[in-house]
Amino acid sequence: MPERHASAARTQPAPADPAALPDPAPPAPRVSVLIPLPLAGAYDYLGPDDPPLRPGEVVRVPLGVREVLGVVWDRDSDVESEAGEVPPERLKWVQARCETPPLPEVQRRFIDWVARYTLASPGAVLRMALSVPTALQPPRSVTGYRLVTGAAEILAGIKPTAARGKVIAVLEDGPARPLAEVARAAGVGVSVVKGLAKVGVLESVALPPPPTFEAPRPETAGPTLSPDQDAAAAALRATLKTPCFEVAVLDGVTGSGKTEVYLEAVAAALEGGRQVLVLLPEIALSAQWLERFAARFGAAPAVWHSELTARERRATWRAVAFGEARVVVGARSALFLPFQELGLIVVDEEHDAAFKQEDGVIYHARDMAVVRARLGEIPIVLVSATPSLETVANIEAGRYRRLHLPDRHGGAKLPAVTLVDLRRDKPARIEGLGQSWLSPSLRQAIAETLAADEQVLLFLNRRGYAPLTLCRACGHRMACPHCTAWLVEHRLAGRLQCHHCGFETRLPARCPACQAEGALAPCGPGVERLAEEVAALYPQARTAVMASDTLGGPSAAAALLRAVAAREVDLLIGTQVVAKGHHFPHLTLVGVVDADLGLYGGDLRAAERTYQLLHQVAGRAGREARPGRVLIQTAEPEHPVMQALASGARDRFIEVETEARQSAGMPPFGRLVALILSSPDPAALEQAAQALARSAPRYDGVQVLGPAPAPLAILRGRHRRRFLLKARREVAVQTMVRDWVAQVKLPGKLRLQIDIDPYSFL
Ligand code: ADP
Ligand code: ZN
Repeated sequence: MPERHASAARTQPAPADPAALPDPAPPAPRVSVLIPLPLAGAYDYLGPDDPPLRPGEVVRVPLGVREVLGVVWDRDSDVESEAGEVPPERLKWVQARCETPPLPEVQRRFIDWVARYTLASPGAVLRMALSVPTALQPPRSVTGYRLVTGAAEILAGIKPTAARGKVIAVLEDGPARPLAEVARAAGVGVSVVKGLAKVGVLESVALPPPPTFEAPRPETAGPTLSPDQDAAAAALRATLKTPCFEVAVLDGVTGSGKTEVYLEAVAAALEGGRQVLVLLPEIALSAQWLERFAARFGAAPAVWHSELTARERRATWRAVAFGEARVVVGARSALFLPFQELGLIVVDEEHDAAFKQEDGVIYHARDMAVVRARLGEIPIVLVSATPSLETVANIEAGRYRRLHLPDRHGGAKLPAVTLVDLRRDKPARIEGLGQSWLSPSLRQAIAETLAADEQVLLFLNRRGYAPLTLCRACGHRMACPHCTAWLVEHRLAGRLQCHHCGFETRLPARCPACQAEGALAPCGPGVERLAEEVAALYPQARTAVMASDTLGGPSAAAALLRAVAAREVDLLIGTQVVAKGHHFPHLTLVGVVDADLGLYGGDLRAAERTYQLLHQVAGRAGREARPGRVLIQTAEPEHPVMQALASGARDRFIEVETEARQSAGMPPFGRLVALILSSPDPAALEQAAQALARSAPRYDGVQVLGPAPAPLAILRGRHRRRFLLKARREVAVQTMVRDWVAQVKLPGKLRLQIDIDPYSFL
């Protein structure tokens, strides 16, 4: 149980009366406690002085009428005390301390840093670190039973029965075991065990909870590395010998064995007695990765993602805090776990936009991981076949070190990439199906591949059946009532769905605008519609669809991936969830159905992202002995992205993109901050937007664009307006934005989101 302390004062800390200061003789040590709530900051409390509370200790404190968790925060931290200096007699006492290890200093500094950078409140950031409040209570102990010393004498005095004999046999010379387990092992009812305890033959003891995380064994040898792999691994091992902050970029083509190389770094960190964090963009899909890890280290890593059960989260959080979990593989939020001995961070697919958290505390996990490594003076490895422009700029500037793997492992060749010009090589109409989405040349390639008994991946980054439903009679389009968005048909589910707010409705029989019957028609393809065409064209092929909404949880996803790897699937249709990391030895053809999908829409990274995604998905082809090929359907084969994909001129593409960003002063050469103002009331929104516009900062080298209606002008019933602040790299945008928004008082229903380094411009 947590230790409890008497509560002295009943009053809440309140703003100080300046005349009462300074305080002559504090009766008990004053501690600053940070509360993990978005709107709260640090408050002063009285702490016990024997032993005194140390910074980082998790405590329970009164807050208003509640008792809440908090963390003893450093007095010299830049987190401001919420209440100012409160006279000691008005302070309340810390109620209890938790037995979990204190949050280490580096983590507290990290939380302060993230709050300062993202302009979130420190309490909101701390909340991500204390995301499992129940993990702070000691686990309920299990009662075990064992024989008392001198059991033989007591037994001699009571009636022997066969059942009793079996229990004694089970527990003889053994450790204490839980009641149910003893009964099961002896093949008797629990009452027999309890009966023996009652007569004093058995005694009950509290059992420690069983360890749930086995330690990975770094000493088991990995595969024999190629010379390039070996050079990269040796460089990482060398850094881990005398740990210090260093950012290494493992830049290697798809299938070059980047994972094998960084697992060597993981081994080195484990040998040095340190914990390791591996961040993956799509952890719920990483079954193959987990299997590889277990095969290499003889034990599974701890995993951390949003689909864990409450129990798993609790066990994992504690295991990280107590140092029992040595390697954690997780999604971005794993960065805030309470590592005591973190010695290495790996960010795999570092270019992936999934590392950007878009709500709550808005942060980029890759960038914050670099900060965490710097504060902890440990190395970090960023891994990608298509590094982000941000990372490339850091390599060029000499801040990051590049480790290069130019070739695929085992002599496998990179796939040949061909562009299919949709203007000439037009998909035909198919009898009974209507519009086709596959050009004659792609259809031929599919037929050849299937005939050779090899696998095909068709990539279309669109969930559902059709992205738009249109009335053929009046032209009405089915739109979401709460968002500026078309409804997407999901035919399997029999629904029209908004991909922004989750609104769902049945496909109506009549057009809601003109009442025409049977006139609503799907427009454009999604993966479900593509599957329909594939089924008609290749009825023999075993087909599977993989999209985030059809996966049905991590274990179903893992089963599907295993089926593909085991060649139980001939043709896989997928969205971006199939693009990442998977290794299918027999997959030799990748067809990109609509390469132009992500190219437009005013996103400054549209070209970069399209390139990365298509390169990634192309990289699934021909990863082993059989050569792979990639057909990319596009209406714009002359676009620089398509040209770069076809010629394999990645570095030239990066150069051109870099020049364009540089001359426009865009990231990574300039800074952006997005401010998104939203309200259910358009008039109030307009008023607030104008007020914010009037007080916009006016400085040299700083530009404020907006207020403009956001592309998603209405989201979940809230009207939205955007500002974009653009500044030179050296400008301290955080201070500027903080001062800016502090001047404007926003009415209650208005919400202001501040997004430092935005990746979404919707
Ligand atoms: P990447 O992450 O660069 O795409 P992977 O690490 O997935 O590449 O490696 C591709 C495949 O080659 C995997 O099946 C991996 O096990 C295998 N591989 C890579 N390097 C080696 C090696 N040195 N010895 C044996 N197999 C290797
Ligand atoms: Zn919606």
